Amino acid sequence: MSVAKNLEQIKNELAPHVTLVAVSKTKPIETIMEAYNAGQRIFGENKIQEMVEKWEALPKDIEWHMIGHVQRNKVKYMAEFVSLVHGVDSFRLLKEIDKQAQKHHRVIPCLLQMHIAQESTKFGLDQTELEAMIDSAEFGQLEHVKIMGLMGMATFTQDQERIRNEFTSLKSIFDGLKKKMPEISILSMGMSGDYNIAIEEGSTMVRIGSSIFGARQYH
Ligand SMILES: *Cc1c(COP(=O)(O)O)cnc(C)c1O
Repeated sequence: MSVAKNLEQIKNELAPHVTLVAVSKTKPIETIMEAYNAGQRIFGENKIQEMVEKWEALPKDIEWHMIGHVQRNKVKYMAEFVSLVHGVDSFRLLKEIDKQAQKHHRVIPCLLQMHIAQESTKFGLDQTELEAMIDSAEFGQLEHVKIMGLMGMATFTQDQERIRNEFTSLKSIFDGLKKKMPEISILSMGMSGDYNIAIEEGSTMVRIGSSIFGARQYH
């Protein structure tokens, strides 16, 4: 199957309110251009350096989403162009993004990453940390970041009910947060293996890599 065919098939399955992020990490420029030529404009990467190189080489109407774990000392490299940072998992990181965005006279849209999986290796905030952050006076003073919603990753497992429960819990955190922050609209959950469940549980943004581009090879 070609990239264009895979994209078409997935887009046909997605309801109009669900945004598709094509996860192009590890994939070369030519492969990304196949998706671009098929109309895809939103791409996700999980390493800042790789995203910068691709941003430099590819058409400038692409929206680049940083979906991976972000190290604070690397925020400066993407602050000029990143469209959405999915993995904001600490207040210190959010403050660094605010600082770097200010240098570029822009506001960077962000998602707060919640820890919903039962795997300790996954990143994210818990409910208590989320509440402490958004209730703090300092949070209200950040003018160069805009919280657009939440992101989460389910446990890597074959257990569909467990995945569903984790997505349900993220949706309920999202609904709770929306009472305090009515402007939030993005719930980023779902990857190649679980996006159908994620959408049933309320996802508005799916991050799909291998189902579009094929399996990844790491060197
Ligand atoms: C790699 C990655 C994806 C896409 O994974 P696939 O299983 O290839 O669809 C989605 N989200 C994050 C955070 C990722 O790192």
